[in-house]
This record gives sequence, structure tokens and C-alpha cells, in this order.
Amino acid sequence: MDAQDQKKLFRLAMEAKETSYSPYSKFRVGAALLTKDGTFFKGCNVENSSYGGAICAERTAYVKAVSEGHRQFRALAVSTDQEDFVSPCGICRQFISEFSNAEMPIYFLNNKGEHREFTMGQLLPLAFNLENHIERNHEKS
Ligand SMILES: [Zn+2]
Repeated sequence: MDAQDQKKLFRLAMEAKETSYSPYSKFRVGAALLTKDGTFFKGCNVENSSYGGAICAERTAYVKAVSEGHRQFRALAVSTDQEDFVSPCGICRQFISEFSNAEMPIYFLNNKGEHREFTMGQLLPLAFNLENHIERNHEKS
């Protein structure tokens, strides 16, 4: 990913927080996703009075992209209003891994726009996904 795409990804992740619907937690989260073909998608967390109905910003961005036909991604950025760097929850890590290889960069942005970079493989080692099933099945035969 070039510097221009990275800058745009970070800006969109920060912007995405603005539409967060989080009246219960007051914890705004924004995400921005870059597809292989260079399309950007934003997502925010959307909560519900029935708490289990809430969806995180990362999954919102992925659902928007996947439902528009995108299956391959280059990078994801996640922003919050916290001074600390906040990482995706367990459900999101599983969800993201469905559409990412272990090398895909995932950036955490704090409230100052500073970032930390990790890879999908760091966030979810030994992921349960199609790729690993295929590798395991090959090893057996
Ligand atoms: Zn999540």
C-alpha cells in the first residue's frame, strides 16, 4: 500500500466514527477498509437496545464491501476516541480472517490519529478458516 492510500485509509477510519450509533456504550469506533481493486469502505459500530444485536465497526465495513462483491482486501484501519490503541474484538478477528491472509496489515488509530500496525496473523494466529482447512487436508493425504 502506498503512502497516499494509507493516509486516505487513516482519514476515512477517523471520519467513520462520526456516524457511530453508540448511545449505550458511548464508545465510538470507526473503520476503513481498502479492497484489492482500490475501493475504500467505511464502517462504524451500530448498537441496539437489545445489546446482542450490536455490530462492530470492522464488521460493518466488511459487510458493506462483501455485499458489494468485494472478497479481497489490502488493509484495514480502526479508530476510537481513546488515547490507547484499541484492537478488534474476538468475533471481528474471526470475521476479518475469513477474507484476509495472515500478512494483511491492520492499523489501530488512537484519538490523536497516531497508529500501530499489526498483521492478521498476529491478531489471530492459527485461524480457523478455509485456507487452513485446505492445508490440513493436504497434510493428511
Ligand atoms: Zn468487534
